[in-house]
Amino acid sequence: MTELQNRLIQIRRELPPEVHLVAVSKFQPVSALQEAYDAGQRIFGESRVQELQQKHEILPTDIEWHFIGHLQANKVKYIAPYISLIHAVDSVKLLTEIDRQAQKNNRVISCLFQIHIAQEETKYGFSIEEFRDFLEKGAWRGMSNVRFCGIMCMATFTDDREQIRKEFRTARDLFEETRERYFKESKDFSQCSWGMTDDYPIAIEEGSNLVRIGTKIFGSR
Ligand SMILES: *Cc1c(COP(=O)(O)O)cnc(C)c1O
Repeated sequence: MTELQNRLIQIRRELPPEVHLVAVSKFQPVSALQEAYDAGQRIFGESRVQELQQKHEILPTDIEWHFIGHLQANKVKYIAPYISLIHAVDSVKLLTEIDRQAQKNNRVISCLFQIHIAQEETKYGFSIEEFRDFLEKGAWRGMSNVRFCGIMCMATFTDDREQIRKEFRTARDLFEETRERYFKESKDFSQCSWGMTDDYPIAIEEGSNLVRIGTKIFGSR
């Protein structure tokens, strides 16, 4: 077994059974993904459309590809035929385009809403207020080719573990509130995507059931 495979298997062994692992393979060569695949990994996360397209063409067809980065609406069409989950839906415009492209492909595409809870200024993600407002307005109810599966977020890049914990807890509270208010009848709205190499143990303690780990599996990029 290779070192990569050892690391992967060790991580998988330590995850609680209800927590799924996205192996974040952005910037990694196809050979590294193949190694992970050979050790049983089937969910891979990529953050650039062109790179994903190339890897998708070469690698085995039973891989579940997750798009984890910021996605431009004009690139949805390239991945719409096969993408399994889009983690970072951060605008109504993007969601509308996903719905449109999914329809063209006769598919229903699973999506998570990216919520901006970190203290850092970033361009991406709904604020909590924007998200509540968006849900209340209800245009999403007519989007029949999108499956609403949950929430994704990133914590502030900091050494302050309590800060990180607090942010994940906020995300979990928002997830519960949203499920209760809008998705009570839906089994699909069930995914909490938070936790990366440096913070995934805290993320799991704070309710994550989908962790996105890159560096700890593949080494640095
Ligand atoms: C790169 C990336 C990850 C993985 O980060 P690591 O620190 O390498 O585990 C997770 N989520 C998103 C959105 C990313 O862009």
